[in-house]
Order: sequence, then structure tokens, then C-alpha cells
Amino acid sequence: MKIIFATGNQDKMREIREILGGLNMEIISMKEAGINMEIEENGATFTENARIKATAVAQELQDGNRQADVIVLADDSGLEVDYLNKEPGIYSARYLGKDTSYAVKNAKIIERLHGVPDEERTARFVCAIAAVLPDGTILSTSRSMEGIIAHEILGENGFGYDPIFFLPEYGKTSAELTEQEKNEISHRGKALRAMEQMLRERIEEK
Ligand code: IMP
Repeated sequence: MKIIFATGNQDKMREIREILGGLNMEIISMKEAGINMEIEENGATFTENARIKATAVAQELQDGNRQADVIVLADDSGLEVDYLNKEPGIYSARYLGKDTSYAVKNAKIIERLHGVPDEERTARFVCAIAAVLPDGTILSTSRSMEGIIAHEILGENGFGYDPIFFLPEYGKTSAELTEQEKNEISHRGKALRAMEQMLRERIEEK
């Protein structure tokens, strides 16, 4: 059995291989599987988008008769800021334009929350993971990491909105955590571990 993860992002692949390593399956990216396709993420939720991506790749594999022993996984994630009616949400990667730097995106969010007290700066990272099994069954799960929007951009680790995502219980932003610390508490780490558990139960059932 092999897992194909529907992403071209090498950072995600590293994290995924680390977290799903215990399944003892080969884990490859779409590109490594020879699949090159643009998938329109037109769902209304993170879970819908993850399911759209996983299903599209599974369909492509089926068209090429290459799906027999393959599980396709896909994720969709983003930042919800309560004060901004959960923006940027599913549009996190596209917020202010997909080629706009995170320095600009992060500065804009801080500016939009200017003068807003901490109690109203609540936010969360959300990650949904979907799986298409060889028999066509679709599984999905979603997890989040709660925090507040910082008053300034802080930290060099991580990516995206990490430098403005403040974790009160750690007294730092998620860009100030080590990769390992972040994996333990992150939305993606938690969702991947939940999916690992769901896949294990399926494998044991057989
Ligand atoms: P995706 O690759 O379509 O799931 O897009 C996720 C987007 O959400 C990223 O481009 C980031 O903007 C944001 N995002 C998701 N997870 C994180 C995280 O752990 N840290 C920082 N930003 C994140």
C-alpha cells in the first residue's frame, strides 16, 4: 500500500512523512507519482476543499489505471480571524492575491485589528484532511489550533501567518516555536494524527 499526498509543497511532505511514518507505507507527493494537474478548490469549507483535491487525484489515477493499492490524501488549511468574520479562512493562500508576500498579508491583518483588545483577537488555524481509499471510500477529519492575532510580526520559523499567530500559553507566536514543538500542537499535526488513526483502524479491520 502506498500513500499519494495531493500537494506539491515539500515542507508539508516532510511533516507528513514524519507524522505518518508509523504506518509503514511509502508516502509520495503528487509530483513524485507523476501527476501534474491544477485542481480548482471551489468548496465552501476546508473539508470540502480537501475532499475535492483527494477525489480529483484519485480520479486521475483511476483514469490511468494506477489506483489499485493507493490511498490518496489531501489537506486544506487556513487561518480564521473571528474579528474579521473568519477571514481569510479558505482564502488564506489567496488573501490579497496569491503572489502577495506574507509580510504584506500579515501587516494588513495587524492593521485591520488595530486597537482591538486581546479578548477580541481570537483566531485559529484549521486543517482538514481527506482520504480516498482504494475501494473509493472517502474519509475526512478536521482539527484546529487556537490563538490570538499578535500586535506585531514576530519569529522566523514556520511559514505563512505563523509570525502573527500568538499562543498565549507559550507566550510566543507559532513562528517562534521549533518545528517539533509546532507539529505537536498544530492543526495539521493533530489532523494528520487523527487521519493516521482512522487509516490504522481501516487496515486492522481488513
Ligand atoms: P493550503 O496549502 O491550500 O492548505 O493553504 C494554506 C494556507 O493557509 C497557507 O498558504 C497559509 O497562508 C495558511 N496556513 C495554513 N497552515 C498554516 C500554518 O501552520 N502556519 C501559517 N500559515 C498557515
